[in-house]
Amino acid sequence: MTRIIVVGGGAGGLELVTKLGRQLGRKGKAEVILVDRNRTHLWKPLLHEVATGAMDPGIDGLSYRSQAHNHGFSFHLGTLTGIDREAKTITLAPLLDEAGKPMVSERLLKYDILVLAIGSVSNDFGTQGVREHCIFLDSPQQAERFHDELMNRFLQYAESDTVDEKVDIAIVGGGATGVELSAELYNAVEHLAAYGFKKLNRNCLRLTLVEAGPRILPALPERISAMAHKELRELGVDVRINTMIVEATSEGLKTKEGELIPAKLMVWAAGIKAPDFMKDIAGLETNRINQLAVTNTLQTTRDENVFVIGDCAFCLQDNGKPVPPRAQSAHQMASQAYDNIMAKLNNKPLKPYEYKDHGSLVNLSRYSTVGSLMGNLMRGSMMVEGRIARTVYISLYRMHQVALHGYTRTGLMMLVGRINRYLRPRLKLH
Ligand SMILES: Cc1cc2nc3c(=O)[nH]c(=O)nc-3n(C[C@H](O)[C@H](O)[C@H](O)COP(=O)(O)OP(=O)(O)OC[C@H]3O[C@@H](n4cnc5c(N)ncnc54)[C@H](O)[C@@H]3O)c2cc1C
Repeated sequence: MTRIIVVGGGAGGLELVTKLGRQLGRKGKAEVILVDRNRTHLWKPLLHEVATGAMDPGIDGLSYRSQAHNHGFSFHLGTLTGIDREAKTITLAPLLDEAGKPMVSERLLKYDILVLAIGSVSNDFGTQGVREHCIFLDSPQQAERFHDELMNRFLQYAESDTVDEKVDIAIVGGGATGVELSAELYNAVEHLAAYGFKKLNRNCLRLTLVEAGPRILPALPERISAMAHKELRELGVDVRINTMIVEATSEGLKTKEGELIPAKLMVWAAGIKAPDFMKDIAGLETNRINQLAVTNTLQTTRDENVFVIGDCAFCLQDNGKPVPPRAQSAHQMASQAYDNIMAKLNNKPLKPYEYKDHGSLVNLSRYSTVGSLMGNLMRGSMMVEGRIARTVYISLYRMHQVALHGYTRTGLMMLVGRINRYLRPRLKLH
């Protein structure tokens, strides 16, 4: 029986493997396997909410094993470390327990069709001190680490007698992650005041958002970035544009001009790359940020049995620009890869993937949502804000949930979410 392995159960991979499982695995037409290094799935665009405590991964995470059981695929916990294209096997690193003792030794899994969907990691561009002193928001574990440190800082502040001392936080990268995290932090501080952190209010935060380019949200139209800039400034964020960071230290961030931006807590969110071990993996073609080059059918340029989707794919559009690393690209690629794998199994021609830009939205927590939508009826984009923007922003996540659970279950989950908002505290407090 044909064996299809999808590595990476994220925004793209979990949608794809769920569809393949339902269509092929459940009917015994193929063996469908998911490999992920984590036990649970959390949609990555929500990580900044985990970081501030607005979301609890322990409650909101989806178990891969349960998803596999419900949708006709099997799940292997493991981290991909290598691919042997001749033997058609992948290598998974040994599994260690909490104390670092080996539990399961290195494994090889055989495939007929392999899909790589392992996403991306933050790119520190080799900047000195960043690995040691900054937190990345690449995984739920890192987001939770930020949350723990944030709660410690707030506790320190609430218990200290020094009035001048503030909670200094610096975020590098004025893209959607940095902007959304900044707003979410102000939301967190306002809610925490109600939970016994009496001294906390938005003035206790000294938040700096650093962007090397001339404006924040460079991927969005200028009007929108100006609007977000203004909103952040009104919240109290010190937005530094045209500012290049050359070093991170335990005291803060050093700029190219030699200024020190003091910060106890630093987040690096200034660009992405595919993980370093992907560079030239198994003789496949990669670009300078380790993404695997694919043709427009989403197969690697050097092996038609290896598909790549999402952030780790380098897929050029007809206009010569690469498909951007976004949740909407991962969602669309998952659908196209599904169609093409089905076509391949049925010896039918594969179809080209075409990126459809539906626009981009940035959610400034409960303060505002701004962005642009690409209209079918008009040329270019339409600016949106407020309630409409918020609804469309949420709908991207709903589409992901529908792809994983279907409409009925997604509806029930929305209902449970509303009930929980009534029953549970607004923020994760531990
Ligand atoms: C804070 C934040 C906010 C964002 N907001 C938005 C937004 O508003 N809109 C938008 O369009 N995009 C947003 N993005 C980008 C979006 O999250 C990504 O583009 C999208 O998740 C990519 O999907 P993916 O399937 O390629 O990878 P991911 O969703 O990252 O999934 C990768 C999966 O692979 C697994 N994995 C990784 N390495 C290995 C390995 N070696 N072995 C086994 N498994 C592995 C991981 O555990 C993970 O489950 C945001 C990103 C962040 C960090």
